[in-house]
Amino acid sequence: MTTTTQPTVGFIGLGSMGSGMTRNLQAAGFPLVVTDIRREAADALVAGGARWVGTAAEVAAASDVVITMLPTPRHVAEVASGPDGILAGIADGGTWVDMSTSVPEVTERIRAEHTARGLRILDAPVSGMSVGAANGMLQIFVGGEAEDVARLRPVFEAMGDPDRILHVGGAGAGYAVKLMINQLWFSHLVATAEVLSIGVKAGVGLGVLRDSLIASPANSTFVERDVLSILNDGDYDEGFAIALACKDLGLSVDLARSVGMPAEVSSLVEQVFRRARASYGDRAGEMTPFKLYEDLLGRPLRLGADA
Ligand code: NAD
Repeated sequence: MTTTTQPTVGFIGLGSMGSGMTRNLQAAGFPLVVTDIRREAADALVAGGARWVGTAAEVAAASDVVITMLPTPRHVAEVASGPDGILAGIADGGTWVDMSTSVPEVTERIRAEHTARGLRILDAPVSGMSVGAANGMLQIFVGGEAEDVARLRPVFEAMGDPDRILHVGGAGAGYAVKLMINQLWFSHLVATAEVLSIGVKAGVGLGVLRDSLIASPANSTFVERDVLSILNDGDYDEGFAIALACKDLGLSVDLARSVGMPAEVSSLVEQVFRRARASYGDRAGEMTPFKLYEDLLGRPLRLGADA
């Protein structure tokens, strides 16, 4: 039990996203209990007053709400189960929010196996990149019961943009929305790389081509805003590893399969991302598929050089 007015938040997974999210929870005054397989990931938080514990079970036992921010569904399942897992420590009726980009199967299975315990399990994946995690402006898509979402709103608001914390449906809906957001954004990325490289190869200036796209019905926030990190700075966003982007695309195609829908474009985009991962390595930035097209062109697409 906590003696402060703020609930104690347990947080598991202090990587690119979790590190910024926990810093913002701490700044908002939530007492924190944290763990990660990398002890050093908690150094700054512990210096700021967070409590380190060695297992997910201890996190769950010591907190009012447990949050996970882990790479893949496999990691979420591992952290939930076993003698050191969340389920071994969480109190009956306790609350667990999985903010990882994942699929409903893991939490569905746990909910079904532990119905008598009255656990409140929500999915609340995020958009906004590591910079959004660092500055507390994530978009958060929450699946779960309305009363739980309302109760947890102050916790979400410490990490996200209050206007873009959306309750999108019942359990599992947050995961589905997040996968569809990533799918569309990655599709924009590949389509934009292809269009810009073909147009430039055909002799149009890069700046003129982009301005023309922006002025046309083909405009998108990717063309107008997101591509600029590459075109201005050669930044392919290493804050989100391409290995994780490939994971998201695979989950998205799996989701389409599980609901019996075709996913022709999604499958092709996934293959382009897998080619980029094989070419540039697991830790390369999520936007390196763009580089595949620059390689074919024989030079980087940069506005300064080519406007
Ligand atoms: P990351 O790999 O940087 O961080 C994951 C953290 O989990 C690491 O610190 C790792 O040590 C820890 N971890 C792994 N297994 C563990 C275990 N068994 N017990 C405890 N800790 C463990 O990943 P990330 O970029 O922070 O992404 C986390 C999730 O957020 C992913 O699902 C990703 O798809 C999603 N996401 C990432 C971004 C982004 O821009 N990075 C944006 C939106 C959503």
